[in-house]
Amino acid sequence: MQKEYVFKEDSSLAHYKADAYVVRCTDNRFWSVFKHFIKYLGFEDIDAASPPGGAKVFASPSKAGDREVALDKIKLLMPVHHIRRVVLFTHTDCAAYGGLSRFNGDEENEFEFHSAELKKAAEIVRERFPELAVETYFIDHKGIIKVN
Ligand SMILES: [Zn+2]
Repeated sequence: MQKEYVFKEDSSLAHYKADAYVVRCTDNRFWSVFKHFIKYLGFEDIDAASPPGGAKVFASPSKAGDREVALDKIKLLMPVHHIRRVVLFTHTDCAAYGGLSRFNGDEENEFEFHSAELKKAAEIVRERFPELAVETYFIDHKGIIKVN
């Protein structure tokens, strides 16, 4: 069958090692700062998942079973891309968490809540994959904060 390209660009088929497995929220408002931060960390190749809420999928999955599906992705990709590091994000005003309005606009309160969520998410990933280094970050409108 003839391939008729609507867009042409070459992609390398070379194998890569992922510098990290990254889980961030779908929310496009934080896509730009996220990309810049990944570069700042010196990552070249990452494996990334973008479920609504980011690390929420581990800490407080909206459906029973979502957590296992998310953990299975790491299990599958770990040997393929030699993953040694997991980087988890949540962010301010996240719709999956009810937005900033859930905290009545109190950013300090929101940050405390997200810190606890990130801690819980990291514990769950570490428990399943003790061989992986796990780190957690919170994104707000001013930048990125390392948590725990
Ligand atoms: Zn979000």
